Amino acid sequence: MDFKPYIRVIPDFPQPGIRFKDITTLLKDGAAYRAVIDQLVERYKDEKIDLIAGPEARGFVIGAPLAYALGVGFVPIRKSGKLPGETIESSYDLEYGKDKLSMHRDAITPGQNVLIADDLLATGGTIRTTIDLVRQLGGNVVGAAFLIELTYLNGRDKLEGIEVTSLVKY
Ligand code: IMP
Repeated sequence: MDFKPYIRVIPDFPQPGIRFKDITTLLKDGAAYRAVIDQLVERYKDEKIDLIAGPEARGFVIGAPLAYALGVGFVPIRKSGKLPGETIESSYDLEYGKDKLSMHRDAITPGQNVLIADDLLATGGTIRTTIDLVRQLGGNVVGAAFLIELTYLNGRDKLEGIEVTSLVKY
């Protein structure tokens, strides 16, 4: 299935010059949304994965249904100050802006195989930080799965050695 027709591109959001890939137009289509998850399930069903970790908010939209379908756990990675338990934190630069991500300190048992999931790989800053957090907790990052990859931003280069899967490339 070609997902591009379902993705809406909005110019100058959230800042002038950014061509924002809006996936809400894909998510509201049940067949397209299911097909996205099904393709990722196909890709990862034979891999040894214990957990999926996804950054808020759109990482949940991809990561949680994928975890459900694979029968593995899901760990939320959240903006600073949102998680109620003891956390670890890391800051990072965005394609537009700066942010801090956090995880519960007990989210991962050392040695668990963790797949990271998000909607979109841009500069790779978000996922780089996510990888660092998962590794700090002793997790073994086995790959990173995205619906969209903005190849012209070379985000993959920040993820040296980590397997990257993306379903739609711009
Ligand atoms: P990165 O850290 O530069 O790779 O940016 C990726 C993060 O920013 C993801 O969590 C995306 O949700 C968000 N993001 C960046 N650009 C876009 C876009 O064009 N559409 C939707 N999300 C975006």
